Amino acid sequence: MDIRYDVENNVVKVEDIDLCPQSLDINFIGVCSHCNSDVFSMSYHPYEDGMLVIAKCNSCDNIYAIIYDKDWNWQSEETISQFFDLKSCNDLKFLDSINKKKLAAVFTPAEIDSMYTKARGEKYTRQYLYRARKKYVDFEDLFGIKINI
Ligand SMILES: [Zn+2]
Repeated sequence: MDIRYDVENNVVKVEDIDLCPQSLDINFIGVCSHCNSDVFSMSYHPYEDGMLVIAKCNSCDNIYAIIYDKDWNWQSEETISQFFDLKSCNDLKFLDSINKKKLAAVFTPAEIDSMYTKARGEKYTRQYLYRARKKYVDFEDLFGIKINI
């Protein structure tokens, strides 16, 4: 199962579906299968009929996704090795949703490129992004789309 976690926003992505946390309670969950130290919950996410709990080992910092059914019976556990950044994902989805011709009408290719690079969380050319940002108001005036990247 493809499970990724955004540690900052406590959002878990399961097979491309974002699950927001229902609670951020910290409870003792169990013992780490890597180092036998205590594992504590970070966030609880309703998942299918039950609950998906993200929990972290006190000692080795391994992060686990533990799935329970509706009666809190343990179903499965996975170590999370992939992480994502919700803001970047949303920025990218947002940019992709804008018609390319509209972008090209206001921004230069270098500016568009820097917006995408920023949205992907990669190193971008500040100069181009700053120029692009100055045009966000024009873009909104023209197309009614507010960009915030
Ligand atoms: Zn551990």
